[in-house]
Amino acid sequence: MAVDSKILPFEATSLEDIARVAVEARAAYASQKTKNIEWRLVQLRKLYWGITDYTPKFLDALKQDIGKPSTEALLGEISYLLSDLHLSLKKLKTWVKDDTDLDYPLTFAPLKPRIRKEPLGTVLIIGPYNYPLMLNIAPLIGAISAGCTAVIKPSESAPATAMVMKEVVEKYLDPGSFHVVNGTVPETTALLNEKWDKIFYTGNPTVARIIAKKAAETLTPVTLELGGRNPAFVSKAANLALAARRLLWGKTNNAGQVCMSHNYVCVEQEVVDDFIKFLNASYNDFFPQGPKASPDYGSIINERQFDRLKNMLDTTSGKIVMGGETDKSELFIAPTAVLVDSIDDPMMTNESFGPIWSIYPVDDVEEAIKVMNKVDPTPLSLMTFGSKSENEQGNSQPRHIGRATINDAYMHGAVSTLPFGGVGESGTGAYHGRASFDCFTHRRTVVATPNWLDKLLRVRYAPYSPAELKQY
Ligand code: NAD
Repeated sequence: MAVDSKILPFEATSLEDIARVAVEARAAYASQKTKNIEWRLVQLRKLYWGITDYTPKFLDALKQDIGKPSTEALLGEISYLLSDLHLSLKKLKTWVKDDTDLDYPLTFAPLKPRIRKEPLGTVLIIGPYNYPLMLNIAPLIGAISAGCTAVIKPSESAPATAMVMKEVVEKYLDPGSFHVVNGTVPETTALLNEKWDKIFYTGNPTVARIIAKKAAETLTPVTLELGGRNPAFVSKAANLALAARRLLWGKTNNAGQVCMSHNYVCVEQEVVDDFIKFLNASYNDFFPQGPKASPDYGSIINERQFDRLKNMLDTTSGKIVMGGETDKSELFIAPTAVLVDSIDDPMMTNESFGPIWSIYPVDDVEEAIKVMNKVDPTPLSLMTFGSKSENEQGNSQPRHIGRATINDAYMHGAVSTLPFGGVGESGTGAYHGRASFDCFTHRRTVVATPNWLDKLLRVRYAPYSPAELKQY
């Protein structure tokens, strides 16, 4: 399809239109058209081609919004979604089948128990700014696959991507069933005042609480994909050069604005100096002219987030051991590591969600685990680096972690089809791949009692006969 390369200026959806799209999405669901599997496959295919046709425009928009280098946009947004779509297109006919492999006493076998996969209904998806395309469309793939209709509310902090996404959804997908509403708090509040069958929210825990409270008024189920202060651990037996290189990648990719990236790294005391040396070597390898001049390093989303990150650097009592350069006029913050000696340091107590992080020396893995359980008992992800055998054993891990990667930064998140979700403060529920289908599906248990079974069921009818119970 022909694509106009011009990105329209950001325009908030009117409150009248918000009410209208909610009604339309509910009516489209009530029409039952989404029950048809072929219809869902057509929508998924159209979405696939929409993303493909609009890739150059999305790349421009992502560059405009968050300075995302094209390679990062292609890997972390476009290909990521296409792979998720590919899986859904391939597997949907299997996923929608009734589950019959169930556990029940043999006496109930004549009832042919099964679980049917019913769509939840009409859902609201609210997305954040850091992966402004992927984090809205990935849940949409699940909603379409499950047979739901959906309204997306992208982040106003990534307005260009939001406008292109609206264009794609309106041009390629069924017009009544899928909508993009743009706006800020008033528009989101208007959306939250509508009745939904599920709200899927990705963002910070403060807004998550607003959403969960609002949803509770109507007992609307929620999936919450949140953040946290994610730990990493580097043992003295790890390949330090590799650990440094991989962890640095985790904080340069998307300029560290990745919910899964490490907030702090516990490093065994005796290798701290070497680890810092390797970090700086990788920094110079990645950015020979410095990150500011590099086309392969993104920017901070806006001044508000820049100020928040700068404030963390200004108030730390730690020592900057890598990077440190900032420039507000270009929303630039260099990848920066800060050596700290207190878990009460602002670099440890705040979620970074940017390219800055702390190094906290520890005596051993036991101390690291104590630190992790204190700093944030329920982070989204954990990354550990050890010797070959430590890695094979999986290293000791703290109590509650959303997801984990051994011997790398957040590669658990790079596999677009594996379940993704937090625990406690880092979220509830999971999606991606099969989990996205499940996220928007109601598993309806169905049994059917045959006529002939009434003879055996006689025992349940009054007048009761306790003697007869013996045969059961
Ligand atoms: P954001 O500012 O873009 O907000 C997210 C969404 O919430 C936006 O659509 C915004 O319009 C909406 N919103 C903001 N205030 C609101 C209000 N008062 N009422 C209703 N809606 C409101 O992004 P953010 O929340 O700052 O994103 C960063 C956070 O998200 C970090 O904590 C990060 O760790 C987390 N995150 C988590 C994941 C994940 O998959 N678990 C992914 C990305 C980001």
